Amino acid sequence: MSLNPPERVLMGPGPSNVDPSVLRAMSIPLVGHLDPVFLKVMNETMDMLRHVYQTKNKMTMAISGTGSAGMETLFVNLVERGDKVIIGVNGLFGTRMVDVAQRCGATVIEVHAPWGTIIEPSSIETELHNHPDAKIVAVVHAETSTGVRQPLDEISNIVHKTDALFVCDMVTSIGGSPTEIDKWNIDAAYSGTQKCLSAPPGLAPITLSDKAVDVMAKRKTKVQSWYLDLSMIQQYWGDERSYHHTAPISMIYSLHEALRLLVEEGMPSVYGRHAKYGEALHAGLEAMGLKLLVDKSHRLHQLTSVCIPEGVDDAKVRSGLLDKYGIEIGGGLGELKGKVWRIGLMGYNAKLTNVTLLLAALEDVLSDQHTSLSFGKAQSAVNQVLTQS
Ligand SMILES: *Cc1c(COP(=O)(O)O)cnc(C)c1O
Repeated sequence: MSLNPPERVLMGPGPSNVDPSVLRAMSIPLVGHLDPVFLKVMNETMDMLRHVYQTKNKMTMAISGTGSAGMETLFVNLVERGDKVIIGVNGLFGTRMVDVAQRCGATVIEVHAPWGTIIEPSSIETELHNHPDAKIVAVVHAETSTGVRQPLDEISNIVHKTDALFVCDMVTSIGGSPTEIDKWNIDAAYSGTQKCLSAPPGLAPITLSDKAVDVMAKRKTKVQSWYLDLSMIQQYWGDERSYHHTAPISMIYSLHEALRLLVEEGMPSVYGRHAKYGEALHAGLEAMGLKLLVDKSHRLHQLTSVCIPEGVDDAKVRSGLLDKYGIEIGGGLGELKGKVWRIGLMGYNAKLTNVTLLLAALEDVLSDQHTSLSFGKAQSAVNQVLTQS
C-alpha cells in the first residue's frame, strides 16, 4: 500500500512543516550529480547559504546527513588526537558535542551551566586561561533542548585573544535568528535543514573560514572518516567537480527552494516574523499562568520550553494535542524529561494561525486536568503583542 500519513502541525523541536513548494521541489525530475544543470543548482545553493549565514566564506556547502553529521564533520576535520577542545555544556547538544569531540581523540574541557541558562563568557575565559593551548572553543547558539539563545560576540572576542578557533552549533538558529558568521568572527558553524530552514531533514549546511581551512590543511594525520573528509568533499563542491559520493539530488533541490523562499522574504523580515510570533506565543502561555523555563533576555523565539505545572500529566497532554488536533510538540530531554514541553515555531510554521491553534488546543487538553491555570485570556495577550509590533 502506498503511504498516506495524516497531516500534522509540527510544533516540536523539528522537523518543522515545509512550504508546499519545497515538497514540490523534491518531486522534480532527477538529473545527474555532475550534470551542468545540477552544478548550477549547487552554485546557487552555496551562494544562498552564504547569504543566510551572512558570510563570504568560500567553504560553505551542504553535507549529506542531518545536523549531527554537520557536527561530526567539523570535529572530525578540525580535531587531531590529543588536541584540547573547550565546549560549553548547558543542554543536550553541548553534551553531544563533547561525545563527538572525545571520539575524535580530543581532550575535552567542559564548561557547564545549568540547563535553561547561558554559558557565561567569563567561564570560557577562565578555561582559556587555564588551557591557553586550546585548539577549539565550541558552544551551541540555539540550545533546542532548553530554548536558550547563547550570545556569541563576547565569547568570540575572548576566544580570538588566543589562536583557538570558535565553532558554533547553529542547527536551530539558522533561518530563525541572525547568524552573523563574519561580523561575529565565527570560524566554523554547522546547521541542519529541518528546523528553521523548513526543508526536510537530510542535509547539514556548514561554513568554514579561511583560518579554519588553513588549520585543516596543516593536519599531520588523515581525517579518520572517509565520508566526511572535507578535503575530498570540497573537490566536488569546489572548482574540480570530481566525484566523491553521489549527491542527494532531491534533498539539494528542496534546500535550494527553501533558501530561495528565505531570500525572497528577506532575512530581516524572516527574523522579525520569528520574533513577533515567538513573543506572541510567550505572552499567550504566560497569560494562561504557565511558567517559561528561560529568562526573557535569553529566550529563543523559535523554540520555547514551558514548565509543566504540578499535577499535570505530561504524556496525556501531548497525546491529546496529537490525537485531537494533529499537533506535535516536544517533551523534555535529559534532565528536563517530564519537566518541560518544547514548542517550536520554526520557519514556515512561525505564523499566527499556529500560535492561536496551539494556545486554544492546549487550553482544551488542559481543561480536564487539575490546575490553577486561567483560561480564555491567551488570545487577547497575543493580540496585544501583535498590535505593539
Ligand atoms: C536538532 C539539533 C541537532 C542535531 O540535528 P539532527 O538533524 O537531529 O541530527 C544538533 N544541534 C542542535 C542545537 C539541534 O537542535
